[in-house]
Order: sequence, then C-alpha cells, then structure tokens
Amino acid sequence: MPDGTAKRVIGKTAERIVSAQAFDEDARIEASVRPKRLDEYIGQKRVKENIQIAIEAARSRGEALDHVLLYGPPGLGKTTLAQIIANELQVPIKTSAGPLLERKGDLTAILTSLETKEVFFLDEIHRLQPAVEEVLYPAMEDFRVDLIIGQGPGARIHPFQLGHFTLIGATTRAGLITAPLRSRFGIVHRLDFYEPADLLIIIRRSAKILNIEMDEAGAEEIARRCRGTPRIANRLLRRARDFAEVRAAGRITQAVAQEALAMLGVDEQGLDEVDRNLMLALLDKYGGGPVGVGTLAAALSEEEDAIEEIYEPYLMQIGMIDRTPRGRMATPRAYEYFGRDLPRRQPRLF
Ligand code: ADP
Repeated sequence: MPDGTAKRVIGKTAERIVSAQAFDEDARIEASVRPKRLDEYIGQKRVKENIQIAIEAARSRGEALDHVLLYGPPGLGKTTLAQIIANELQVPIKTSAGPLLERKGDLTAILTSLETKEVFFLDEIHRLQPAVEEVLYPAMEDFRVDLIIGQGPGARIHPFQLGHFTLIGATTRAGLITAPLRSRFGIVHRLDFYEPADLLIIIRRSAKILNIEMDEAGAEEIARRCRGTPRIANRLLRRARDFAEVRAAGRITQAVAQEALAMLGVDEQGLDEVDRNLMLALLDKYGGGPVGVGTLAAALSEEEDAIEEIYEPYLMQIGMIDRTPRGRMATPRAYEYFGRDLPRRQPRLF
C-alpha cells in the first residue's frame, strides 16, 4: 500500500491464494505492475470514459475535481484508479483508510494539510467512526473544518477554511455508506469483475513487466481462474511462474498453469477450499437454503463480513448463490457443479 497505509485483512482464511485482499508480497509487486496512467488502466470502459471527461473538464476550468466514490469488491482497481486520477490531474495525493482515523483530530490533521486541488484517497470509507465521518461533511461541502481551540468551558469553535481538494472514497460495501456521506459525492462509480479478454491483457502486461515467459494458453488458463480480479490474476501469475521455474524450464504453458493452480487448490472456476466449504455447507447442511449469512458464517467459523465482502460477490457473479430476502440459496448451477441432485419441488398444498 502507498503511504504505509495498512489494509485491514478480514477473515481467518485471509491468506488464501484466491483472496482478493492484498498481502505484503502483493504490495511490493503491485507497485511495479500497477498502471500509472488512464490509458494503461485496462477494462472498466464506462467508468474510465466518465472519469476521463470529468478530469478534462476540471483541468480546463482550472478547478479541483468533484469528490469521487468508487465501490466494488477488493482487488478490482479502486486504489489504482485513485492514484491514476491524481497523476492525470498532476496533483499530489494523500492516502488513509477509515479504520486508521480513530479520532476527529486524526482526520482534521490530514484535511488541514491538503493543498488546493490535492487528492485525498480514503479507503474503506464505510468504516469511519460516526463522529469522525461528521468532520467530512462540512469539509466536503464547504471546504471547512471546525477547530476547537482551548479546553473545558473556555473552548471555542474556530472555523478553518480549507483549499478545494478532491476526496476519493473507496468501499467494498456501498450499502454501508450513510446517506449524508453518499450525497456529498458528485461522481459515483461501481467497479465490476473484469471480462476474460481484459484479464488476458492485464496478465500479458504484468508478465512482460516481470519478465515472465508464458504462452497464450497459459495466460488464458490464469484468466479463467482469477475470479475476474486483477490482484488475483497477478498473484496466480507469480505462483505459476514459481512452478514453471522449478518444474518446467521457466515457461508458463497451459499444462503448467493447470498443474500449478491445481496444486494450490484453485479449481477451473477459481474456487478454492473456502468457497467449496461454503457451497457444500449451503448444499448439504442447509438443503440448498435459504439460510442467513450469520448461520453460514458460524458453520464455517468465518466472519460475516468476510462472507459478504469477499466470498459471496464472486459466487453470486458466477451464478452459484442467490441472495434472497429469506437468505442465501444455492442455484441449480451449484447443484450441477458440485454433483448434487436438484431437490424435487415440494408439492403445493393449495
Ligand atoms: P482495490 O483498491 O480495489 O483493492 P487495487 O487498485 O489495489 O485494488 O488493484 C490491485 C492490483 O490489481 C493493482 O496493483 C494492479 O496491479 C492491478 N489492477 C487493478 N486494476 C487494474 C486495471 N484496470 N488494469 C491493470 N491492472 C489493474
């Protein structure tokens, strides 16, 4: 992470190979493969076009860019896009994360240090303490913070004018953003899982930067198994390279990629043991659902947050799980994939 910002890692199985969360090793390598300009940022076409226009408009007016909220599962490029925006605007960037700002003063200190037009990237913005979040409201809207001078009964509120800055908030959980906070963002975009064609471009690009020998079928295999997530694509690429160096003269072919990823327990859909345990609990223990996320979390000894933020979005994307008002349900596709018979419909009584 830039600026030494520690990413919170959730879930007891957080260090699994297909986790979209960043580990220390990722942080080091990501710095070398992270795109720096908008034209190197692959995929997310609609988001990119909108951001491009907003950047050009702000630049031509000589104003700060409107505040931006980016949301979507981890590893899809929110941090990367924030850095690219600052780069393209040719302004500095400061970075922090919701859980790191424990007191109002922590946030006020950063806000008062921002230069005019500077970008402030605030990751995990949904995890701000309510009292800290309230500091953001006047800062975003009127570029003002209220400093408290003195202590006790003699304390006075002193309004402090900030330069016009751009807040870029990132979150994996848009649903947890409060209405007053959300309404203060002029530009809001959701990042989606990447298409296979875009993942292929990302994998080829990273292989080139990291000097990895790979053929097209090897790249396709990694693209298929990386859960539509660039961070995982880059990680699987590195693991496949290790395997290729030790067992296969250094070149990633389809067979090498298949063997390397199978050894890591990643199947042809990118599912690993945690996903399989989750699906099997849903199918076998709870009869395919509906079952509440809390119950599933308890059955797997996992955190609810980890299930909702990390495992479930991809399982929903590939059509294995449905989220219904009554709880999570396995889809017919899940029954087929895990070799279970579809339950027969209960006869209607009326
Ligand atoms: P997030 O902040 O959403 O968790 P990051 O921005 O840290 O994700 O992205 C993780 C890594 O994935 C980056 O270091 C970068 O190498 C790669 N990446 C993300 N998005 C793209 C993209 N659009 N094109 C190429 N690489 C990308």
